[in-house]
Amino acid sequence: MSELITGGCLCGAVRYQADAPPQSMGVCQCERCQRQSGSAFLIATVFARQAVTVTGQLTTFSASDESGSALHRHFCPQCGSAVMITLDRYPDIRSMMGGTLDDKSWLKPDFSLWTSNAQPWLTLPDTVRLHDEYPDGLVS
Ligand SMILES: [Zn+2]
Ligand SMILES: [Zn+2]
Repeated sequence: MSELITGGCLCGAVRYQADAPPQSMGVCQCERCQRQSGSAFLIATVFARQAVTVTGQLTTFSASDESGSALHRHFCPQCGSAVMITLDRYPDIRSMMGGTLDDKSWLKPDFSLWTSNAQPWLTLPDTVRLHDEYPDGLVS
């Protein structure tokens, strides 16, 4: 992992950088993350809020998470790429979408949320801790 972590959306209008390594990496297989990603799961690379700088304009879709507090999905209005998630419940973190990283060679999600909603064809490696839903106390 290089000193400065960089990433951006598909069209390049939105770029970001992080000056500290992520605190955690996980995937979410909940219904909403499957819809937003258009895939089987979303990869969350969780950074301290102050480590991340975003340049360019993001559009935000906000909805309540399962706890009833707001979860904000920030995406590029030009190309639609999901770039970042922020949560009212955990204001000190930013989850950057793993697929938007420039260098994905160090990505290694070690937990999965909402395996109860997993697509049946998908088997995650043994190194990934599985959670049926969203465990209390887990910040992601
Ligand atoms: Zn874009
Ligand atoms: Zn989710």
